Amino acid sequence: MTDSVIELDQVVRDHGSPPVRAVDHVSLSVARGEFVAIVGPSGSGKSSLLNIIGTLDRPTSGRTIIDGHDVDAMSDVALSALRAYRIGFVFQQFHLADGFSALDNVADGLIYTGTPRAERRCRAAASLTRVGLAHRLDHKPHQLSGGERQRVAIARATVSDPTLLLADEPTGNLDQRSGASVMELLRELNATGTTIVVITHDVRLAERITRRITIQDGHVVDDAQGAPA
Ligand code: ADP
Ligand code: MG
Repeated sequence: MTDSVIELDQVVRDHGSPPVRAVDHVSLSVARGEFVAIVGPSGSGKSSLLNIIGTLDRPTSGRTIIDGHDVDAMSDVALSALRAYRIGFVFQQFHLADGFSALDNVADGLIYTGTPRAERRCRAAASLTRVGLAHRLDHKPHQLSGGERQRVAIARATVSDPTLLLADEPTGNLDQRSGASVMELLRELNATGTTIVVITHDVRLAERITRRITIQDGHVVDDAQGAPA
């Protein structure tokens, strides 16, 4: 029984032809309950790495163990199930469905778990309440601010109570204040036990995260543990 949620061993990911090496022999381990920032210049391979961790993409070579599962040996169907129950995703562009209420958007996060509709809506309301949006259940994305939209996306990503929450530049489209508040929400979710890995360009926000992994040219060049400021 391991207490790692993420174990990468010599992971490589080449894109395209001729191949561009986006991830170059990355080995790292993230323990249950950690809050990790991934930082580094644009094009350094951060998203490629996060997509492998989230099982949205498979490595060219190397081993990937997520929540105790050797994902390289798993079928696409088995990986979909792992994602549905264990992994939540948040993206810079929110990725909400425009014509649908916040409640419907969040309830959608449970579709692949086979949860009945009434229970999906009930859990969606609870998840939106947890992110401070109990008063916005019936609002559609265009009726919400950027910060509120990202909260809806976080509510959707966490409605199945995943082990692991992955966020790719979640504050990239937000002003400083909304960004700080979204980061604070991630911190609260981490305090309830969710392991979180967040890619961020924002040095001020990254500095407040205990563990910061720096990526450059597909390599881990620094892995710093330090008390948050
Ligand atoms: P980051 O998230 O740090 O900006 P990415 O992981 O998106 O970095 O990209 C790393 C490198 O891989 C870049 O050189 C990028 O152009 C390349 N890359 C990423 N995705 C693809 C793809 N689907 N096809 C070809 N090249 C890609
Ligand atoms: Mg990226």
